[in-house]
Order: sequence, then C-alpha cells, then structure tokens
Amino acid sequence: MKKIAILGSTGSIGTQTLEIVRENSELQVVALAAGSNVELMERQIREFRPALAAMWKEEAAEELKKRVADLEVKIVSKMDGLLEIATLESVEILVTALVGMIGIRPTIAAIEQGKDIALANKETLVTAGHLIMPLAQKKGVSILPVDSEHSAIFQSMRGEKKEQVEKILLTASGGPFRGRKREELTQIQPRDALKHPNWSMGRKITIDSSTLVNKGLEVIEAKWLFDLTLEQIQVVIHPQSIIHSMVQYRDGGIIAQLGTPDMKLPIQYALFYPDRMPMKGKRVDFYELGTMTFEKPDISTFEGLALAYEAARIGGSMPTVYNAANEKAVSLFLEEKISYLGITELISDAMKHHQVIYNPNLEEILKTEQESYQYINEVVGK
Ligand code: NDP
Repeated sequence: MKKIAILGSTGSIGTQTLEIVRENSELQVVALAAGSNVELMERQIREFRPALAAMWKEEAAEELKKRVADLEVKIVSKMDGLLEIATLESVEILVTALVGMIGIRPTIAAIEQGKDIALANKETLVTAGHLIMPLAQKKGVSILPVDSEHSAIFQSMRGEKKEQVEKILLTASGGPFRGRKREELTQIQPRDALKHPNWSMGRKITIDSSTLVNKGLEVIEAKWLFDLTLEQIQVVIHPQSIIHSMVQYRDGGIIAQLGTPDMKLPIQYALFYPDRMPMKGKRVDFYELGTMTFEKPDISTFEGLALAYEAARIGGSMPTVYNAANEKAVSLFLEEKISYLGITELISDAMKHHQVIYNPNLEEILKTEQESYQYINEVVGK
C-alpha cells in the first residue's frame, strides 16, 4: 500500500489524482488539502477517509470540522496545516497540485522529511528550483513530474545517459488563439481564453496556455528538473497534443512519448514509478488521427514565451517576478480589470522594474512575490 497526500485535492489535478486512487487499491489517501471548497472536501473525506485534512481559510476549516464531526479526521488550516500534511509521518508521496507559489514551503518541508514529490505545482520549481533540486538530491528524494510534457521527457530519458542528451523538444498545442496576430487579440474576453482546444484544466493554467506563459513556465521547470541549459530547450507547436514531448540525443535520434491528451496517465506514472499500471480509456488511433503537424511558436505575438526565456536567462529572483506578475495579471484579467494583451504587458513591465537578487533564499523569493503583486496593483490602480 502506497500512502499519499494531496495538496489541492479539489482542483483539476487533485480530483484526477483521486480518480486514480479510486481505480487502484494499492494507493491510500492519508491527507488532503484545499483552499475553500468545503463541500467537495467533505465528500472527499467521506469517500477516502484521510486522517488529516486542511483548508487554507480558517472559516472553511471551522465549517468543515462541523460537517465531519462524526468522522475520525483532524482538520487543520493555513500554512501550518499545509506543513502538517506535507510532513505527516505516514505520507510516502506528496502530490503538489496547488496553484501558485503557496506550494513552495510545504514542498521544501516534505523533501526535508524524505518524502517523494509528485510535482504538478510548476510555480514551485520556476521560482525556487535552485533551492529545491539540490535539497532533493541531498535527501535522496525523487521529484516525479506530473506535468504531461515533463512526464514525457522523463519517460523518454528512462535508461538513457543524461550527458548524451542534445536537447529536449517541449511540445505545445498553441492554445485557442494559435495563428492569430497581436491586433486580433485586443478584444479577447476571459470566456474566449478559457476554451482550451485539447486539455481540460484549472482556470489559471488555461489562461496561461492561451498566452504561452504556461509554456514559458514549463521551459523554466524543465531547466531545473532535467538540469539543462536554456539552449537545450526548444518549444515546438504541435496542435494535436499527441506527442507530449521529445528528447533528442547526440546521435540525432529522438525519443518521444505519445498518448491521448489525458492528465491521468502522467499522474498515475508519477504515483507508481517505475511501474506502469493498467489504465482504461481512449487510445491513440493513428488511422483516425491521420496527420500530426508542427510549427514554430510565434513569439512576437505570444510574448509570454520570450519573456520566460529572458527571465530564466537573467535568473535569480527574475523568474519569481515573471511568475508572480503573471499570477496577478491573470486574476485581474479574469476579473475583467485588464485586457488580454495587458497580461504580458504587465509581466514585461514588472520585470523591467525589478532589481534582481542573485541566488535568492526562500524569504527573498517570497518577498519578491509580494513586491511584484504590489507593483502590479500600483500600476493597475493608476
Ligand atoms: P485548480 O485551480 O483546478 O486547483 C487548485 C487546487 O489548489 C484546488 O484544490 C484549490 O482549492 C487548491 N488551493 C488553492 N489555493 C490554496 C491554498 N492557499 N491552500 C490550499 N489549497 C489551495 O488548479 P489545477 O489543478 O489546474 O493546477 C494545479 C497545479 O498543477 C498548477 O500549478 C498547474 O500549473 C499545474 N498543472 C495543472 C495541469 C492541469 O491539467 N490542470 C497540468 C499540468 C500542471 P479550492 O478548490 O478549495 O480553491
């Protein structure tokens, strides 16, 4: 029996992880955490019977306590609650499926305690990869990618020597606005950007996919996960989302991982690595598929990707600014307070304004996050 805890259990990745648990009796859920969705958390507790559950909001935790008073489950809240879950003795693998940088501290705490990490929360590595990867190595902990592209790369590197990798080819669907030019994006509304052509995901990542900021975050995530230079990471637009990513070796050979666009495969792969477990569901039918196509990303229209390379090249605290500015800008866009193109304009603006801290510690990263939010509030408030 493998004992797992899920941070972000009520979200897109969290609920799909629980679907996998439902189908695999070898997995046991010992702890769950969410933000404020008490209703769903109550249902999850009744079904999966964890020993510990956390709600970020205190009022939500109080409400949950009342609702599950008939069960033996401890309810906690805030950062202390997330840390208690991340370090719970029985947890063997922690699924980090929170949105945003809130995941950094629990991830570090879990690694300190020697827990393996199934990592969906890419913001953690984007902003604190220089702290997390060496710590994981020191503690002998595996960071198992859940992001489909990184899982594909991980799978395509199995049994190969890292020093023989020439580059990785990170695929991207191109999002709902692929092929459009900048002037055609001025009137985009949240409802347009929330329609992803292939993947069904949480709201923030769906917007990030449309701006290519998600791909930018993935470039930085891949740099840390696979210890690559930026020159070794190439983004390829592949609208069908069948090839989830590829690795090119020094002899020119390319190994890819393919499948239908379904996050359950990478989640399950991370939970059972190095085993492959059976999984029901649609298979790729190449007769039906017919063709797969590839394009170069249009980075002058979708500046989010170019800005990610720039942030990663500068390094230090700059990827934190990129990430935090995007987080804030996306929520302002969803509240219809800024335009669609305003998202990348604000990221660029925040990056220009920032004084880089090289090799930032955790406090400096979190401070940079707050300063970036504040900066954007000031700019938008003007
Ligand atoms: P969702 O928005 O669907 O879910 C986020 C989850 O985090 C919810 O359970 C939410 O709880 C919880 N949460 C938010 N804030 C807090 C907090 N302060 N404390 C505790 N829990 C909190 O996001 P996704 O599942 O789409 O994405 C999660 C992460 O995985 C992101 O980093 C994303 O980039 C990454 N990812 C997602 C993919 C996908 O297909 N969705 C693919 C690859 C990576 P509540 O519901 O109560 O608000």
